Amino acid sequence: MPSTPTPSWTVGDVTVHRIDEIPLPPATGQWLLPDATPGTVAGQDWLHPDFADADGALRLDSHSFAFDLDGLRVLVDTGIGNGKQRANPAWHDLRTDYPRRLAAAGFPPDSVDLVVLTHLHADHVGWNTREVDGAWVPTFPRARYLTTRAEREFWAGYAMDEARAQMFRDSVLPVERAGRLDLVDVPAEGLAIAPGLRLLPTPGHTPGHVAVELTSRGRTAVITGDCLHHPVQLAHPAIGACVDIDPQRSEATRRALLGSLAGTDTLLLGTHFAPPTAGHVVAHGDAYRLRPVPPA
Ligand SMILES: [Zn+2]
Repeated sequence: MPSTPTPSWTVGDVTVHRIDEIPLPPATGQWLLPDATPGTVAGQDWLHPDFADADGALRLDSHSFAFDLDGLRVLVDTGIGNGKQRANPAWHDLRTDYPRRLAAAGFPPDSVDLVVLTHLHADHVGWNTREVDGAWVPTFPRARYLTTRAEREFWAGYAMDEARAQMFRDSVLPVERAGRLDLVDVPAEGLAIAPGLRLLPTPGHTPGHVAVELTSRGRTAVITGDCLHHPVQLAHPAIGACVDIDPQRSEATRRALLGSLAGTDTLLLGTHFAPPTAGHVVAHGDAYRLRPVPPA
């Protein structure tokens, strides 16, 4: 079977690979970003055809990013996962070959050292675990998993519905009980977790949400997690996601992040951005656009 090369970007000495899981169905955009109406989207012609269809439907993907940073093998977010019982039909009981794609990019699961979780939502923690003989076990047997204390403690004190409790049971607790989940406190200026790797506090979507900043030889990339879901939010930073826990804080986070990136050569890598997935933030009018940087 011919193998297609994994999409990747070069950041200094580091190659960042996009590990595809699934494209999300068109209805997802409408549900997730209800203020991104077809008319609003159509008013931004630069979004078409990569990030939106001609009828204004938003294109969104589920994928992870993997990179080797001076020997530290890192995976940022773990998608939806296989065989998970989910209320969202687009996420329910998937059977993708994500592990094979990881291996094809040079990251077989037992080679991963560090799994960074931007936040604890079902479409970011799914491949934390895989099913073995009816039990959910860590997919990455050698890895430390990392998220923020604020994120873990928020959900510990949250009255979860059954669907969310199920997600914690199959995708978070098995890692925690195996002693593999590390919690860190991230100050306002960010937290270095390894040379060239920092967590940036980007709260609002969830209270402990972080973006991930990678620096190598003076070049920088930022992986969004869900502080941005779609490039339309560059043109309209006020557009939030219906699942943002704190919409005002979420908007403030988007505006601060976009303002800090505009006009720089920092590569923005969108966790749900459809291909080409990455680009530079440029100022446009009183907001921004993404100037795409296609993968190699
Ligand atoms: Zn998400």
